[in-house]
Amino acid sequence: MNTPVPTLQDCELLDQHDPLRALRAQFELPPGVIYLDGNSLGAMPRSTAARVAQAITHEWGQDLIRSWNSAGWFTLPQRVGDKIARLIGAGEGEVVAADSTSINLYKVLSAALQMAAKDAPEKRTILSERSNFPTDLYIAEALCRQHGYTLELVQAEEIDAALRRGQVAVLMLTHVNYRSGTMHDMAALTALAHAQGALTVWDLAHSAGAVPVDLRGAAADFAVGCGYKYLNGGPGAPAFVWVHPRHTDRFWQPLAGWWGHAAPFAFTPDYRPAPGITRYQCGTQPILSLSALDCGLDTLLAAEPLGGMAALRRKSLALTGLFMRLVRTRLHGHGLSIVTPEDDALRGSQVSLARSEGAYAIVQALIARGVIGDFRAGDGATEADILRFGFTPLYLGYADVWHAVEQLREVMDSGQWREARFSQQHAVT
Ligand SMILES: *Cc1c(COP(=O)(O)O)cnc(C)c1O
Repeated sequence: MNTPVPTLQDCELLDQHDPLRALRAQFELPPGVIYLDGNSLGAMPRSTAARVAQAITHEWGQDLIRSWNSAGWFTLPQRVGDKIARLIGAGEGEVVAADSTSINLYKVLSAALQMAAKDAPEKRTILSERSNFPTDLYIAEALCRQHGYTLELVQAEEIDAALRRGQVAVLMLTHVNYRSGTMHDMAALTALAHAQGALTVWDLAHSAGAVPVDLRGAAADFAVGCGYKYLNGGPGAPAFVWVHPRHTDRFWQPLAGWWGHAAPFAFTPDYRPAPGITRYQCGTQPILSLSALDCGLDTLLAAEPLGGMAALRRKSLALTGLFMRLVRTRLHGHGLSIVTPEDDALRGSQVSLARSEGAYAIVQALIARGVIGDFRAGDGATEADILRFGFTPLYLGYADVWHAVEQLREVMDSGQWREARFSQQHAVT
């Protein structure tokens, strides 16, 4: 507690000795921008434009339909999936990159409900967190209506007790909360769920490429995740889906399209599911977007010789820890409270600040100064408005953190955020 508050010079020195520093050169970031929104849309890798151009002009333009084989288009979802597997503790051949997070959640939650109906028909509840990302809750709500289940929503600290009541068929959680940046203990909650006869579905939207994940080690059942956040796949990038090999072949997933067929080019009138995770594909996948996602994954795998996700995690914790320390000391008295846990074991790769008034305008004033974070509205009752800052160790340094806090300090000290132009709301922020 008595260690002095880091100065800009301290931060610059940390950057000079940062073993991951060279990884930033993989990205094209506009000059003058400190990008703290990689948790929402990852930055653009330098390699992406040329790769997508090649896929368009050569693979599509010249080789045309032959590229399904010659350029390996048909196996791209599996090949990209294998790269994702290395980041989330899954095995080769266990992940496909396909469709969206929402759609993949529909597939795995349906499969989980089919299993639960067979193995534990008396359990009729899907348990989740009230502050889970809305699309996850909406998909679960729709499936509950369809299959006669109840969606029970609790606060994080109530999950344990709710599981122990023994009514839960499926525990569906997002590993790192999108609002608060709080991280669940995946292994402990999975073990507790299993002990209570419940299956687990984990959403890794804010975990894959952000924190080390060990799906196999945790013996989780199902997982989905997002391609355009920390995986740097570009806007609307395909998502991914993982199913533990002990479950994959037990059920058809409900969107049984021809890309999930064991022999799609036999064109038989009847469906025969492909073995393994391939059956979790539906129809033709977006090759141009998958090519871009492939480039995004390469930026993360480039960290493997430097220590991989463990090294990225160390730096991420150092960056978020530094940000919180600077906010506490340099922004004291400005009504900003830190929502994200101080405990490293409970924190993802973002920091959220709450403020009772002006959160939206403060974020806009920061964006005007080149510090890009985002705003998430509270519900006006239990949740405060949030200023969200994502920290991606691939392309952020310690001095970036220092400058970001300094800009925030100037916005608050000067009261500049009160200018009318910063309060104009846009549909998407
Ligand atoms: C970002 C995010 C999604 C996004 O779902 P899409 O289908 O890509 O729109 C879903 N779930 C969580 C938890 C997220 O953070």
